[in-house]
Amino acid sequence: MANEYDVVVIGSGTGGYVAAIRAAQLGLATAVVERAPVLGGTCLNWGCIPTKALLEHAHALKIAQDWKEWGLTLGQAAIGIDMNQVQSRKDKIVKGLTGGIEFLFKKNKIDWIKGSGRLAGKGRVEITDGDKRTLTARKDIIVATGSQPRSVPGITIDKKRIITSDEAIGLKDVPKSIAILGSGAVGVEFASIFRRFGSEVTIIELLPRLVPIEDEAVSAELERSFRKQGITVLTGTKVTSAKAGGNGVDVEFTTAQAPDGKTTKIHVELLLVATGRGPVTTGLGAEDAGLQLERGYIRVDTQYRTSVAGISAIGDVITFEQPGHPQLAHLSSAEGIALAERIAGREFRALNYDQIPGCTYCDPEIGSVGLSEAKARARGYDVRVGTFKFGVLGRARIAGETEGFVKIVADTKYDEILGVHMIGPRSTELVAEATLALKLECTVEELIRTIHAHPTMSEAVVEAAHATHGSAIHA
Ligand SMILES: Cc1cc2nc3c(=O)[nH]c(=O)nc-3n(C[C@H](O)[C@H](O)[C@H](O)COP(=O)(O)OP(=O)(O)OC[C@H]3O[C@@H](n4cnc5c(N)ncnc54)[C@H](O)[C@@H]3O)c2cc1C
Repeated sequence: MANEYDVVVIGSGTGGYVAAIRAAQLGLATAVVERAPVLGGTCLNWGCIPTKALLEHAHALKIAQDWKEWGLTLGQAAIGIDMNQVQSRKDKIVKGLTGGIEFLFKKNKIDWIKGSGRLAGKGRVEITDGDKRTLTARKDIIVATGSQPRSVPGITIDKKRIITSDEAIGLKDVPKSIAILGSGAVGVEFASIFRRFGSEVTIIELLPRLVPIEDEAVSAELERSFRKQGITVLTGTKVTSAKAGGNGVDVEFTTAQAPDGKTTKIHVELLLVATGRGPVTTGLGAEDAGLQLERGYIRVDTQYRTSVAGISAIGDVITFEQPGHPQLAHLSSAEGIALAERIAGREFRALNYDQIPGCTYCDPEIGSVGLSEAKARARGYDVRVGTFKFGVLGRARIAGETEGFVKIVADTKYDEILGVHMIGPRSTELVAEATLALKLECTVEELIRTIHAHPTMSEAVVEAAHATHGSAIHA
């Protein structure tokens, strides 16, 4: 294998592997350094794919548990979940997809260098373990080393009783009880999975509402639904200690409402810490190479250039001038494509970070893009909103999925759609239409005049547009 390339990518997650394929498509000799035994990074191996596989099992169980409603003839046998089958199906899906990336690498003549990459001076990457050697990148080095779970001060992850998503995706038994710390996408997805599988679930969030980055109306709807499903929701709640023992974890917390900071204690079989993920730069030699780091993240400019010429970075490991770079698989891939095109000398097409769709696959699921109502108001827009409930739709009733709504946030002056927020059936698919609407700077009127097929869940989108103009047909 050659040691000289145009581009050397460190990390084969959704950022790195997509950047590599695009670079190779554009004629650049490309290598990817990956230290894990498989390609695909967090998304394929420990994130998006395994969690959504578990959620699909949860959905299958939901249908089976409602067998009478659906006219299924399952008889009187107790309906449960076989975790061995769940795990083996999930593993098969993951293996198929990671193998697919290996195939794409071969197809595009990308070399997979097995080992850990370290920045070793201008245009050089040293492989410090595995396939030890030094690679040269004639044009650019792309750092796409991603993120890993992190805890909060005072809570030690022992990976047995106090776990992260990395352990939660591989559980062979359904815990009798589980507390989940953090109600971002990862936290609420596991809450849905374990509740459906039969666990007693408590979700603990420091901020006053679940899924705090979503529109407030979405948070309120999710909390209502979670409570109905029997999930204990503790918002505005701070965990003060978590001690793992032989048979579980003692979790102590205090709420904003508790008099004099009085703490409450619960005992659970498992505590899942889902409070966010930190950047991975261990062994990368980032500081020695002179990269500017902020809280461990690699600082980049709007074209993903680091502070050192010839080194770029994308994905979960980066931060911008404005903090809060979203950690999303599709965003890392989009950054990878834009960057590869720049390196190949093509026009750089900047991403609009106000138009990144976000999906949370809890039950009911959430899809959102653009500004929330509060953010739009904070930016000074004269805002008008329209909301339409899924429950009114024929398609939602047929599916037995009647919770939730679509909410459109628009600018009154130009009628432009600024944000679309939905919670309910197929929201993670429906958000694609909303994303296109934002990308094309669509007005509410244009959305109203776009004919939506019947009966579909997408009718909630067009009805929400009607509602924004005060003219919903079915409300
Ligand atoms: C439970 C969970 C569920 C998620 N669900 C979703 C979802 O549904 N949708 C979504 O959009 N996002 C989801 N995410 C987030 C998504 O997985 C990440 O945003 C995405 O994987 C980031 O891609 P990346 O390429 O930046 O980094 P990563 O995927 O983290 O890949 C980095 C790779 O670099 C390798 N690496 C690190 N350092 C080195 C080194 N020095 N040398 C060689 N290799 C190295 C690592 O082994 C890893 O393979 C989820 C995350 C989690 C944890």
